[in-house]
Amino acid sequence: MTGKCQPTPCHVFRGAHYAPMRPEVLFPLFQPVTGLRGVGPRVAAAMERLGVTRVLDLLWLLPTGVVDRSYRPALEDAEPGRIITVEVEVTEHRIGRGRQPYRIFVTDGSATMALIYFHPRKDWLQRVLPQGARRVISGKLEVFNDQLQMPHPDHVIDPGSGETIPENEPVYPLTAGLAGKTLRQAVEQAVEMTPELPEWQDAAWLASRSFPGWREAVREAHAPMAVVQSAPPRLAYDELLANQLALSLVRRSLKRRGGRRIEGDGRLSGPIRERLPFALTQAQEGALSEILADMASQHRMLRLVQGDVGSGKTVVALLAAAAATEAGLQTAMMAPTEVLARQHARSLQETTEGTALRIACLTGRDKGSARKAILAQLAAGEIDLLVGTHALFQEGVDFADLGLAIVDEQHRFGVHQRMMLTDKSKRPADILVMTATPIPRTLAMTAYGDMDVSRIAERPPGRTPVDTRVLPAGRMPEIIDRLKEALARGERAYWICPLVEETDESDLAAAEARHRELQSHFGDRAGLVHGRMKPEAKDAALQAFADGETSLLVATTVVEVGVDVPEATIMVIEEAQNFGLAQLHQLRGRVGRGSRKSTCLLLYRAPLGETARKRLKTMRDTDDGFRIAEEDFQLRGAGELLGTRQSGLPEMKLAVLERDHDLLAAAHDDARLILDRDPELKSERGEALRVLLYLFERDAAIRYLGSG
Ligand code: ADP
Ligand code: MG
Repeated sequence: MTGKCQPTPCHVFRGAHYAPMRPEVLFPLFQPVTGLRGVGPRVAAAMERLGVTRVLDLLWLLPTGVVDRSYRPALEDAEPGRIITVEVEVTEHRIGRGRQPYRIFVTDGSATMALIYFHPRKDWLQRVLPQGARRVISGKLEVFNDQLQMPHPDHVIDPGSGETIPENEPVYPLTAGLAGKTLRQAVEQAVEMTPELPEWQDAAWLASRSFPGWREAVREAHAPMAVVQSAPPRLAYDELLANQLALSLVRRSLKRRGGRRIEGDGRLSGPIRERLPFALTQAQEGALSEILADMASQHRMLRLVQGDVGSGKTVVALLAAAAATEAGLQTAMMAPTEVLARQHARSLQETTEGTALRIACLTGRDKGSARKAILAQLAAGEIDLLVGTHALFQEGVDFADLGLAIVDEQHRFGVHQRMMLTDKSKRPADILVMTATPIPRTLAMTAYGDMDVSRIAERPPGRTPVDTRVLPAGRMPEIIDRLKEALARGERAYWICPLVEETDESDLAAAEARHRELQSHFGDRAGLVHGRMKPEAKDAALQAFADGETSLLVATTVVEVGVDVPEATIMVIEEAQNFGLAQLHQLRGRVGRGSRKSTCLLLYRAPLGETARKRLKTMRDTDDGFRIAEEDFQLRGAGELLGTRQSGLPEMKLAVLERDHDLLAAAHDDARLILDRDPELKSERGEALRVLLYLFERDAAIRYLGSG
């Protein structure tokens, strides 16, 4: 679900190099797998490809299926094609000639069956299945030339040995160089080694859900009775609780450290409000007052504002920055791209023109003396609001006194980066994260579980909803004709090319080809912008479109994150079926910003699969970003929704967010309640919860206990 090696919260919590006080009771589980019977260097290397290096990892490796070996007919009655288990006597070995297999005949008294071995090790067969011996055999029964046969039985055991064949045998994911049996036996040993642990769950909760104890749940997970799709809920809940507890610990600690009362007096925000050509919506006022209350409290603010595209987050951020300025402190505002940073800076400057708020912009592109000048002003406290990219984190960017850090349009900042923000100032700043991706509550709780959340679930009035249509790509000529009419009326249009891996030459070529084709209709009024252009060229192309020099902008998804061109009324998206719904929603949000009626055309390439059809229908039926996000989450999952690689999502081994949202909500509340009652985790249950944190490798969070 999540990528490797990205700075996700799990990297903050996973104590790969941090395990000073792991409880002894967990030691066996953290041993390398090489300590297990049957696991030598070759097997260990194969296991590593499954992400398994320690005994613990084997416990988390859940069966992907189960083989039912309960069918035990007499051979004469047995149905071919089924897995059978039968006790037999070995009657004869027949060595195959030429390319014939080695055959061993067995009988249960009712019929005979041939066990078939290709390329056998003969001495081994003679040892395992000596003539005259009784054996229990399990495998798939077939018929060939009227003869019952079983190619390569899965199990051959001596009934006198005490060994048994499980009725329901778990099947584990396999990788090259690892036999199913080897892996199964390793897991069995791991389950055997699983210690009884102190109960960290609330007894009443366990009872109400009929959850077993931890050890029992582990056993059940590896002894499935039927095909299983998921971890036992008890284990999923354990993991979610560990996750939520860790996030709550971080949250508490971040809130406790730093934090000061930041209270404005209105001398800046008053005039700014007066200059606004509109009144804030109720939703904006609501979010703003939550923010201002956080800032004014002695605790540090850690707040996430979720607001749909066009809900007006920027002005809310601006008024928060104004309050910080009034209190004599500086604000940093981070955007994910240079284009966006510059656009923000420009529009904020326009909005506040004539007020005393001093705004500057700093990105990686500012070099030499210009950069030096900004840095000097910043250090001297002559800049109130610095807008930029993550370049603001760089060495040498020193604020006189940073009071507020705003991260805009960015759902990709993990806890890790949010904590980095805090190192910028002598006194950790208040943090405000603004995201335009309406995230389902479930995701917000895991990706941002360390934060408080405000929602702006209302758009400013006076917008006509965008008319959305779903069309096959074959209708393109017709679309081009309609574009001609619209552009002749002075409207502007975006044309989004198929989703581009920014490194993919062929996709880039497709965008360029489309641009050339549209140029044949629209001449120089068709501009082009894509992710691989130099920042200057990109800016110039966006600017030309904003200024009306071009009226059709062919683009890869770079416009996704927020250029604002109110004259744009048409959005064409090619191969819309390949985009995430949240992404389509963001793109669509680029039009419908002015008062004119806007259209969004979602072109698809036929044939459309069932899910794709549903998703595009959702887009047509609603423009509620929160609803769209929920649906996308259900249809495609968290990784797709937040962006697979940089999602900031913790890695879950057992829980599946899309399915376990009820459990997650419970874990979220549980974690906060636990810490309210026992902030240092010192009670008996608190001690057990520490074990839980170690078990799920959220133990780095333990250092936030007490150290504060
Ligand atoms: P987003 O939440 O997507 O960042 P913006 O802050 O860019 O949205 O706002 C989108 C547009 O709506 C801007 O042009 C902004 O000036 C305008 N806007 C913001 N708040 C209001 C409001 N209360 N009434 C009318 N227009 C508003
Ligand atoms: Mg914005």
